[in-house]
Amino acid sequence: MTYAYDDQNIFAKILRGEIPCSKVYESDHTLAFNDISPKTPHHVLVIPKGPYVCYDHFAQSASDAEIVDYTRAIGAICTQLGVAQGDGGKGYRMISNAGPDGVQEVPHLHVHILAGRNIGPMVM
Ligand code: 5GP
Repeated sequence: MTYAYDDQNIFAKILRGEIPCSKVYESDHTLAFNDISPKTPHHVLVIPKGPYVCYDHFAQSASDAEIVDYTRAIGAICTQLGVAQGDGGKGYRMISNAGPDGVQEVPHLHVHILAGRNIGPMVM
């Protein structure tokens, strides 16, 4: 497998503190911040701190500790936002775009958490 990680991508710069972000959550291996152009009342981007281009890169290359941390972070953020169904929240949508067909703009793995209103059906 071959993945070329561009360390000049905008999320790498956020991780290095070179550009600011509106931080929502941070743990050992994960950072989450508000999308600069929110599509819903809550629009959070969740990224691993490691240099992974997309989900398949992460799944193949990250350590178990990173994967567990990232997965649990997404759940914790949903709870923090008050949208987790287990807490009586009204839910959310998770999206992770990958590569040209997925129309991925920033080549550092990120999950979008979209919530705060009824988003409607997925439209293709
Ligand atoms: P993608 O299309 O790669 O899945 O989504 C990239 C997301 O990053 C977009 O929703 C876009 O608004 C967001 N984004 C791009 N540049 C910045 C930035 O500098 N800061 C933040 N917080 N979000 C950004």
